[in-house]
Amino acid sequence: MSTTDPEALIRTLVRPAVQAMRAYHVPPARGLVKLDAMENPYVWPQAVREQWLDALRHAEINRYPDPQAAELKQALRRSQALPEAAELLLGNGSDELIQLLGMALGGQSRAVLSPGPSFAMYRLIAGFTGMAFIEVPLQDEDFALDMPAMRAAIAEQQPAIIYLAYPNNPTGNVFDAEQVREILELAPGVVVVDEAYHAFCGESFVDQVVEQPQLLVMRTLSKMGLAGLRLGYLVAHPAWIRELEKCRLPYNINVLTQCSTEFALNNAALLQEQTARIRADRELLFAQLERLPVVARVWPSRANFLTFRTRPGTAATIHAALRDAGVLIKCLDGSHPLLHDCLRVTVGSPEENRAFLDALAAQTRE
Ligand SMILES: *Cc1c(COP(=O)(O)O)cnc(C)c1O
Repeated sequence: MSTTDPEALIRTLVRPAVQAMRAYHVPPARGLVKLDAMENPYVWPQAVREQWLDALRHAEINRYPDPQAAELKQALRRSQALPEAAELLLGNGSDELIQLLGMALGGQSRAVLSPGPSFAMYRLIAGFTGMAFIEVPLQDEDFALDMPAMRAAIAEQQPAIIYLAYPNNPTGNVFDAEQVREILELAPGVVVVDEAYHAFCGESFVDQVVEQPQLLVMRTLSKMGLAGLRLGYLVAHPAWIRELEKCRLPYNINVLTQCSTEFALNNAALLQEQTARIRADRELLFAQLERLPVVARVWPSRANFLTFRTRPGTAATIHAALRDAGVLIKCLDGSHPLLHDCLRVTVGSPEENRAFLDALAAQTRE
């Protein structure tokens, strides 16, 4: 039987969970000051760019990449002080690692649990890997973990995976380490501590992965300044990495990414300098935001972004007005009840931060 109506075939063939989803939307940013996606605003000095291009000259793009990415893993171990006895799993961004965990652990009657609001991909990927998604709301106002609710949800739902973004996106806070340890004690499955913003925070659970085999620590180079290369990594007990390796596509980290990230990690001081500057500028931006009448509240942040609340009912209008003025930030209003009237801005270069503050201050006067 042939049909000319793709919609009819889609309705019969595509899994209902996928049909119910909406694709992740990335707004166009061409020509705008881009402060919506936690990118590092800085490029490398010309001399370093030349050295990088020299390294790329030897990249064998006619060959498949090293499936183990052995040299890149060594560079990661060296530059990120990872525990000797732990193993590493590399992903095409940490998004791919979340997908891989879903494929390995997912299926009917398996659940993913995360406090919320948190990173959108946990829910999205649970959806298409056939897992139920349970969100336990964070506490209003300070976005701390609601431990009685977490304990109850873990006991009732027995989640196969718990994601804890540490620091959390989009709230910027870092959860209480003692409470994270309690969740590790209670969890019947794995606990993924997602340290995407580690470079801006400093606190980490990575040293505990060998003694605590249920703990998987996930990181990414994206927020450190290499978003375009797509490299995420999972640090865990070797037994877990061996198992998860079965679901990794053999050449998921391409030749150019292996070569470029290895080069960047061998110049880690440069990335550290940039992230230190961003951390300092975050505090300046925080103080400046607090002074604007249009801003009702700014939350302290341990990441490279700030989440703030506007006067009731004005967030969407302000977001659109900033875009019209050439500055793209993220509108969180409407994405979660706890985030009503909230906007999120990435800490950019001093010039970008100034453009953002000027555009926002202009709102006050209108
Ligand atoms: C940005 C982000 C990621 C995804 O990073 P990629 O490596 O670029 O896929 C993962 N977790 C959190 C909490 C993030 O904010």
